[in-house]
Amino acid sequence: TTEVRVPASGLVVLVGVSGSGKSSFAREHFRPTEIVSSDACRAMVSDDENDQSATPDAFELLNHIVGTRLRRGLLTVVDATNVQSRARAELVSLARRHHALVDAIVLEVPETVAGARNAGRADRDVGMTVVRRQQRDLSRSMKRLRKEGFRRVHVLDAGGAPPRVHIVRER
Ligand code: ATP
Ligand code: MG
Repeated sequence: TTEVRVPASGLVVLVGVSGSGKSSFAREHFRPTEIVSSDACRAMVSDDENDQSATPDAFELLNHIVGTRLRRGLLTVVDATNVQSRARAELVSLARRHHALVDAIVLEVPETVAGARNAGRADRDVGMTVVRRQQRDLSRSMKRLRKEGFRRVHVLDAGGAPPRVHIVRER
């Protein structure tokens, strides 16, 4: 079991391609109210989790919730792919504005594994083209991730059984 220390009243940014297991990981380790998911936000503003035209509105809502929670000193976990530096930069700057610490948890999986998991999903239809593009963005990101303003970057191998981790909330 790996200890993953996260800021008790800060931000945790999950990072991983579709099918890497972000939502499963979040559900296993955090309270439902601590998790702010881009898909849930998209659903709230479009009635359809897969409606991509709702993405800008969904992220505006996500940022609003995250900012409000950080202002109130609540641990907040962002469940979105965050494979693009622009998405991560926005969250890091949001945390800064609220004087909150921000950690990243990267779930690494081979794209074949993510693809196979996605193929078996009833809730989502994510093709290999999308996963490959996300994987390319993530690979490019790995080197600079530590320089983007995260206090810690936790990298977990999520390609097999769910990563065995113990989350420690640091005050
Ligand atoms: P998305 O970005 O599309 O929301 P995600 O990263 O949130 O994807 P999950 O929804 O958590 O991924 O997982 C995708 C599928 O893979 C689900 O069917 C889930 O049950 C399964 N899964 C998640 N983690 C594992 C694992 N460690 N081993 C096997 N299957 C897994
Ligand atoms: Mg998910």
